[in-house]
Amino acid sequence: MRRAGSEYKACCPFHDEKTPSFTVSPNKQFYHCFGCGAHGTALGFLMEYDRLSFPEAVEELATSVGLELPTEIAFQQGPDNRPLYELMDEAADYFSQQLRRHPESARAADYLKQRGLSEEIAQTYRIGLAPPGWNNLLQELGSNAERIKQLETVGLISSNNGKQYDRFRDRIMFPIHDSRSRVVGFGGRVMGDDNPKYLNSPETPIFHKGRELYGLYEARKALKDITSLLVVEGYMDVVALAQYGIRNVVATLGTATTADHLEKLFRSTHEVIFCFDGDRAGKDAAWKALETTLPLLRDGRQARFLFLPDGEDPDSQVRKQGKDAFLSYMEQALPLSEFLFSKLSEQVDMTTLDGRARLVALATPYIEKLPNGVFRDMMNQQLVQLSGAKIPQKAPPFPRSRSRFRRGSRPTLMKPVHRAIALLLQYPDLASQETLPREWDKLETAGTNILKQLLEILRKNPTYSTAVLVEHWEDDTIRRHLGKLATTDLAVTGDQVEQFHGCLQRLEKEARQAAGKQVRNKLRPSDMTEEEKNLLRRLYSIKKAD
Ligand SMILES: [Zn+2]
Repeated sequence: MRRAGSEYKACCPFHDEKTPSFTVSPNKQFYHCFGCGAHGTALGFLMEYDRLSFPEAVEELATSVGLELPTEIAFQQGPDNRPLYELMDEAADYFSQQLRRHPESARAADYLKQRGLSEEIAQTYRIGLAPPGWNNLLQELGSNAERIKQLETVGLISSNNGKQYDRFRDRIMFPIHDSRSRVVGFGGRVMGDDNPKYLNSPETPIFHKGRELYGLYEARKALKDITSLLVVEGYMDVVALAQYGIRNVVATLGTATTADHLEKLFRSTHEVIFCFDGDRAGKDAAWKALETTLPLLRDGRQARFLFLPDGEDPDSQVRKQGKDAFLSYMEQALPLSEFLFSKLSEQVDMTTLDGRARLVALATPYIEKLPNGVFRDMMNQQLVQLSGAKIPQKAPPFPRSRSRFRRGSRPTLMKPVHRAIALLLQYPDLASQETLPREWDKLETAGTNILKQLLEILRKNPTYSTAVLVEHWEDDTIRRHLGKLATTDLAVTGDQVEQFHGCLQRLEKEARQAAGKQVRNKLRPSDMTEEEKNLLRRLYSIKKAD
């Protein structure tokens, strides 16, 4: 972060850039990126960047400034999961000790050695051993009823007919860390041919397969700049590649890659390489990954596809061919565009006009899933080249002409209610104005309700900053909108108070018009109540005076 006037500047952590457009305003207690539009508070940052929940973000911030959260508050915000994390950590320690001490450990050590894994890699990834037997862990960690209950909650023990037993038995154990280095789950692999080959922790309050990636924490720890991340299927693949010095590898946990996974990956790198078997199942899985990726491919993000020879996995491949061969494999991975067009071209006869027309029909829905931007334009161009067709450009969802005003040169284009909210968020002092016109608050739109609440909050707490105001709302959608308004360039020239009043006056006019319309909708005066007739008379007289 570098100081720039009253603010700080840095390269944006949410998009790829060379010149800093990410600003942090200590005054507003708010960050904003002029490149990608990311914005929010300190809490919002932790939630977006580290994928923390709201209570977790509060806890993290409190800890960072040396504050202990009162436990009753932690409980109000959600269940207190700290004991669960502690228990997972103890379990990871237990498993890794067993790898050294247990009588059966020689077999496990042999297995790892035969796989070419060094002591160092085993320690880096905290690999362990769940010994054979039904209740080793239960006896070690289940010292009282509460802990037994917690062991069950985190999926380390299962129960059947009231009898509890270890979930992981006679397996090599791989702890799964979240981005904050906490153990959230385990993967267990058999050493022999037992089934299932891989067993994962079930979904628990602290573990969600659709969000976690094995090896991401370790990759981020090992590498400063991650130019690309390879997504493989098994934890053995991750550690085997790590053994060969290839550290930018993560594994999904027995699920297809989700949008949540991808968002997480693209936060650490700008290129994701999916690795699949070259067989039919692998190709199908790759296609699914492609579909999930398309809507997330903002400019600067890339996805490629690596297909291994039939029957090989990254683990076997790297052991057979070595590091350099594997790296060159990675370099040759198919760009998403090539994979998309080649797969679709297979379904049509490209030598005929009909076939090429069909390709356009097939490809268009996929290209439309891409966010607007250079990459999408290039995909369209490539489709034109391949098919020889001239593709009518669909109008973008927002008419292009509007972008002319984006820099705030015509702030009047903002709805008055939005502008009033934006002014209030950016200049909270405005709320202390005694002479606010009040007829507008008869309007019952979502916007005016928020404006009313904002004024209310500021009357009670005149010192609140922009950030505190935005965080007041629990609803994510509202918070996002408010965050946007808090960072919109309002191009305020002259007096903010006057502008704020102007907005409220326009709202008043809207309120009157809405009320008038409501009455006028009842066409015949005979349908009106006496009260409504009076309102109508009053409205007409005000209108004349306007
Ligand atoms: Zn940005």
